[in-house]
Amino acid sequence: MSEERPLLLPQVQPPEKPLKLFDTHAHYSSRTFKDDRDEVLASLPLYGVERVIEVGVDITRRDGGPWDLAARHDHVYFAAGVHPQEASDMGEGDIDRLRDMLKKPKAVALGEIGLDYYYESSPREIQKPVFRAQMELAREMDMPVIIHTRDATRDTMEILKDFPGMRGVCHCFSGSLETAVDLIKMGYMISFTGVISFKNAKRAAEIIRWMPLDRLMLETDCPYMSPEPHRGRRCDSRLLEFTCMKAAEIRGISPEEMAEITTANAHRFFGI
Ligand SMILES: [Zn+2]
Repeated sequence: MSEERPLLLPQVQPPEKPLKLFDTHAHYSSRTFKDDRDEVLASLPLYGVERVIEVGVDITRRDGGPWDLAARHDHVYFAAGVHPQEASDMGEGDIDRLRDMLKKPKAVALGEIGLDYYYESSPREIQKPVFRAQMELAREMDMPVIIHTRDATRDTMEILKDFPGMRGVCHCFSGSLETAVDLIKMGYMISFTGVISFKNAKRAAEIIRWMPLDRLMLETDCPYMSPEPHRGRRCDSRLLEFTCMKAAEIRGISPEEMAEITTANAHRFFGI
């Protein structure tokens, strides 16, 4: 048992006119929120965060899973899926279990799924069939997919191309402009985290400047990826405003406009 103490954000009063935001990717099921999960979630609408997608990473059998949070909070919806790092744990009957989870109220997407060759905590040869099986399930259920890919662009694109016509988002995008062009052509959305506020995020800026605005979404991926000026602290959806402001600055529009566009995109994408 690690006794990690998250570096909490300072308590700030809700702004009078907050940006209207949609956090398309969050992990409040994470242990780092064990002491204040419901409190943080309940406070979000006051800070302008009108919707949150709680994203699953495994076939959890315990309470407190994504659907549980969605059931407790009006503004929270959820996605369920097996993250590539958990692919080795996928056992017999788990696709059926996943299908059942995705039939629960407020399930809006299958994810996050994909390939991760950076950590490779599950071998590639297991990650790939687990990814494909979940793409097939999404197609069967006509649900959008949330894609995680890290150091695995070529294999990820190869699998995505085998499933034409799917609705999907590449989350926490860190790929090249060329990959972004391919994804846009395939109909995918691209979503960015607080990483775009880091000094060396030139590639992301280039993509945000270029991409069609109706394909852009914003996310925290909390508790990870806190944007500047809160880098290194535990992230929560209240920090999405910093990512929105940065994206607006890169694109040369107002933060209000950026919030309006990305929130509308997310509503359309998730069908809520
Ligand atoms: Zn995630």
